[in-house]
Amino acid sequence: MTRNLGAHVSAAGGIDKAVERVAAIGGNCLQLFSGSPRVWAKPGLDKYPLVKFFSNLEKYAIAPVFTHALYLVNLASDKPDNLRKSFDCLKYELEFDSLVKGSGVIVHLGSHQGRGWAASSEQIAEQINLLLAATPDDSTFLIENSAGQKGKIASDLHEVRWLLDQAEIAGKWVSKGRLGWCFDTCHAHAAGNKLGDPTKIGSGEKSALATLDELDLWSTLRLVHVNDSKDPFASGRDRHANIGDGTIPPADLQFFLDTKQVQKLSLILEVPGIDGKGPDAENIERAKKLLDAC
Ligand SMILES: [Zn+2]
Ligand SMILES: [Zn+2]
Repeated sequence: MTRNLGAHVSAAGGIDKAVERVAAIGGNCLQLFSGSPRVWAKPGLDKYPLVKFFSNLEKYAIAPVFTHALYLVNLASDKPDNLRKSFDCLKYELEFDSLVKGSGVIVHLGSHQGRGWAASSEQIAEQINLLLAATPDDSTFLIENSAGQKGKIASDLHEVRWLLDQAEIAGKWVSKGRLGWCFDTCHAHAAGNKLGDPTKIGSGEKSALATLDELDLWSTLRLVHVNDSKDPFASGRDRHANIGDGTIPPADLQFFLDTKQVQKLSLILEVPGIDGKGPDAENIERAKKLLDAC
């Protein structure tokens, strides 16, 4: 079975170039930024070379396309200015997702900055609801699980479950297919979830796969970020490593990727790359080897 395996690559020089880049390293699906990931300013929705982009997707047989939102976004912020900027930015990203006929915008929800989940959860749910009401019907908001560093939201998958439920109550957004989530293997490992066989996990240890079952989170899961981790298990730190070079046991990662429900999902690499320039052919090869061995 051919798996959907691709990477986050640079869109420098135009989003059409990102398609060429992911094809050049051997990927068949794509994740990109709609602009610079570190500034609020955006190019403008009329500034993208869409004709070339779509013809490249066809030429290189690349699908689906995911957008990764800015890292500056914080829907849990208690600063009105920051919250407004986050909202406006995500509105743009969702409009971009519609424009490129994408499969969703992956969002790091942000950090409660010490205020706690309980103090920020209602606000996050409200913002997601307002965003989905304000954006095109064919755009999709995808919550990404976090490593839990510095009060980051959604390191605990119960928080993802709760937000999906609130959105369903508010606007049937889950039923409408407009809200889902993304599982990052590095973040899950850093947040203390074992990726391997749940039946072989020690007592008191958290199993990612068992939690997905328990919380009924499979049907809303749209993609997996496949990253190794530079930091130890349960470190709460978010530093990606190249596949096989980090602290995630390869057999555990392999078991996760071979899980029936994961087999049909797109796999996107966000690794540093051998030369530090981002996902490369070597990491795609390593991921393919893991999948072949499944
Ligand atoms: Zn990720
Ligand atoms: Zn990360």
